[in-house]
Amino acid sequence: VAPAYDGWDANLQAQVEKLTTGKKQPRAYSEICDSALDLIGFTPMVRMSRLAKFFDIECELLAKVEFFNAGGSVKDRIGKRMVEEAEKSGRIKPGDTLIEATSGNTGIGLSLTAALKGYKMIICLPKKMSGEKVNTMKCLGAEILRTPTEAAWDAEDSHIFLSARLAKELNGHVLDQYLNPGNPLAHYDGTGEEIVEQTGGKLDYMIMSAGTGGTVSGTAKKLKEKIPGVKIVAVDPYGSILAEPAEMNEGSARTGQKKLSAYQVEGIGYDFIPTVLDRTVADYWVKTDDDEAFAAMRAIIRHEGLLIGSSCGSTMAGAVRFIKEQNIGAGKRVAVLFADSSRNYMSKMMDDDWIKKTGFDPEITVRAATEKG
Ligand code: PMP
Repeated sequence: VAPAYDGWDANLQAQVEKLTTGKKQPRAYSEICDSALDLIGFTPMVRMSRLAKFFDIECELLAKVEFFNAGGSVKDRIGKRMVEEAEKSGRIKPGDTLIEATSGNTGIGLSLTAALKGYKMIICLPKKMSGEKVNTMKCLGAEILRTPTEAAWDAEDSHIFLSARLAKELNGHVLDQYLNPGNPLAHYDGTGEEIVEQTGGKLDYMIMSAGTGGTVSGTAKKLKEKIPGVKIVAVDPYGSILAEPAEMNEGSARTGQKKLSAYQVEGIGYDFIPTVLDRTVADYWVKTDDDEAFAAMRAIIRHEGLLIGSSCGSTMAGAVRFIKEQNIGAGKRVAVLFADSSRNYMSKMMDDDWIKKTGFDPEITVRAATEKG
């Protein structure tokens, strides 16, 4: 076996192999796995040369495609990790009740882990989130409670408040993705490490969107340790307040719209700064609007055949603007993380009637396939 890193000699490689043999989960599909939990992590990276051409981008454009995780999103990684850490510390044991506030994908990752390990799962979810996510969690055995989308995070009717209240009343456990160090750690040990290996350490920019911020914080920390000079770009939708400096969050610089209404893209942005979001890792922030996110989502699907979800559209729209504004040209390598799958949005952003009904131009899908930039 060739050493994993250039600086490693055969001895060091053998030592590491000896220490980790039997502890490593099977990689990809060359071995028989024990369960779907072994199909979390080790997601592929894909070169998006067709999309780069479509957007008139000259740098090399790569995607880290997280819908290949067993539950269909990047958040499977933390669902598994947070349960494993809580088991190791003796905080929870099979048979216990887990309760989590989520925009859906963490709920799916946790419900999948809970189903395989024998926990009861209760999910608190804002009404905005898609029915596809709800049905997936229900089929995995979770009970779903839906809270008003408009509720501020600290209001008594919010999904976060409800999860804390239920934990007390039911003697359950909130693993709490907003606070749990297992969230960024899953990306530090997993997502980030994989990107270092897959790119061979050649990467100039990594672009990710933020919800809890676990993905961007953990991945960025690992990349910055292992790839000198790599820059991190974080994407945040208009209507959210995560971007810095704070003035960026006030109104859409792109559309000129001052009063920002709720946005439709799911899973990213918040009205508070989650504890696990380390904003110091971001070298740049980019804000995005729904319409450009939907168009970019459709363009990725149409040109690369990658069946990604709505936040991936935001991340890509932000990436295109960033690459053009910064004149990032040939010879540079840019990677974008795609967090989830089209499966979650079949009745929403994947449906032209929904696009129209929600007040967007139905021609968005045609434009995505034909228009530049
Ligand atoms: N995209 C989607 C679709 C998500 O569900 C999430 C998680 N809420 C994210 C992006 C952002 O991930 P993180 O919570 O790690 O910032």
